[in-house]
Amino acid sequence: MSKSSSFSGKSQRSGMILAKQLQASGIQSTKVLDAIARCPRHLFVPEILAHKAYDNTALPIGQGQTISQPYIVAKMTELIVSDNPQENDKVLEVGTGSGYQTAILATLFNKVYSLERIKSLQWQAKRRLQKLDLHNVAMKHGDGWRGWASKGPFKAIIVTAAAVKVPEQLLEQLSDGGKMIIPVGETQQTLQLITRNNNNFDYQTVEAVRFVPLVPGDLL
Ligand code: SAH
Repeated sequence: MSKSSSFSGKSQRSGMILAKQLQASGIQSTKVLDAIARCPRHLFVPEILAHKAYDNTALPIGQGQTISQPYIVAKMTELIVSDNPQENDKVLEVGTGSGYQTAILATLFNKVYSLERIKSLQWQAKRRLQKLDLHNVAMKHGDGWRGWASKGPFKAIIVTAAAVKVPEQLLEQLSDGGKMIIPVGETQQTLQLITRNNNNFDYQTVEAVRFVPLVPGDLL
């Protein structure tokens, strides 16, 4: 994924060490571990926090938002990535934030769509992905509660902010057999894996999590 100029030997080693830690924490998908190992996470955090970029922690990215913890990024990705990917599989991400999760998805899906309600974050994320030559990503300044109907249906939907309830319009934009991973709740949140079979939606609780809220309505 990375150009050598933006991913030095030291960062590459840090990426590999991080992937090993995630494997020890239970992440099994080698595709996902490989994507984590190769992604220069220091480019997705404020420069002043670059020395913490390969720690397995969430970090502030400004505007009261955070870049998700690498373990959670890996876990959510592993649950939606297909063993048998098809040419036209598309994934929708709600909550672009730093663009780190987006970059991981871009290496595993043919096409990624990502929505963010805060314009300045969306703009920075876009520049980062361009710098990394990840061109299979379309971003939009938009409300994740509504999804991106004109680009759907999606094989996978990943929501990286906690919703008080599962947005109806996202369920509608899931393709048959598609999977959505979404944190649900307010003070107590759990990660829910939802699988669509025709018009049935199967819910599985994965684990307890802590995310910033999926804010309703207005864009910033
Ligand atoms: N995947 C990101 C996580 C960012 S935190 C990363 O790894 O960096 C969650 C993001 O969701 C924030 O940037 C926040 O602005 C965004 N968000 C919250 N409510 C939203 C909504 N209704 N629509 C789109 N984005 C939203």
